Amino acid sequence: MLTQREIIDRARSEGRSLLTEIEAKELLKQAGVSVVDTKLATSREEAISISQQLGFPVVLKIASPDVVHKSDAGGVKLGLKTARQAGKAYDDILRAIKKEYPEAKIQGVSVQKMARPGVEVIIGMSKDAQFGPVLMFGLGGVLVEILKDVSFRIVPLTKRDAREMIREIKGYPLLEGYRGQEPVDVANLEELILEVSNFVEQNPEVAELDLNPIFAYSDGAVAVDARVILEES
Ligand code: ADP
Ligand code: MG
Repeated sequence: MLTQREIIDRARSEGRSLLTEIEAKELLKQAGVSVVDTKLATSREEAISISQQLGFPVVLKIASPDVVHKSDAGGVKLGLKTARQAGKAYDDILRAIKKEYPEAKIQGVSVQKMARPGVEVIIGMSKDAQFGPVLMFGLGGVLVEILKDVSFRIVPLTKRDAREMIREIKGYPLLEGYRGQEPVDVANLEELILEVSNFVEQNPEVAELDLNPIFAYSDGAVAVDARVILEES
């Protein structure tokens, strides 16, 4: 397993600033952030054997430093229930990406367990010219894309910042349990935000970060996708 330093140095030595999902999740996992365990497969057979080790249903995604939005180009296959489906998904993903991005360097395909459904939230970080790193919190999917229902705090965050930024979004009632849905473990989300704040503080070479989405549950939360962009060195 590579250390945080090695992951960043390797990307730099290859002249890239976008980490792959697998690299980004590994960095965050080492920082204590809860992410879905994700492994790289470099052949159809390997994709199947990793799927069997993890246990079905699984998700396969393109692993390429040149593909930023994996699902737009047919690079994400969800809910694969058998070895046969996983094998077919591997072939379909490579075919779709080669067609859509003929120039893309492809590391392989990432394999992870299909997470159970939860309330989708996102945590992001970008750098402001005046304030430096700023964390963003919001509800995932259309609520962020269309309604821009998000809150911001400057890094490093206090416990109180984390508490407030969750509660000040308009969609907060969705986290408290809505129409019979179980309430989300908000204390755990506060912890998660503080862990991300610590990670950002300790890794100044990270220019941008996106955990989108995180599935929040009544008993915890887990990031199913992660994107990290490094500063130009
Ligand atoms: P993109 O690069 O397009 O953002 P994602 O990794 O976020 O790709 O995958 C697209 C969508 O697929 C996510 O928004 C999420 O709804 C779903 N998804 C991704 N990974 C998982 C997973 N491990 N379990 C369940 N759903 C997932
Ligand atoms: Mg995503």
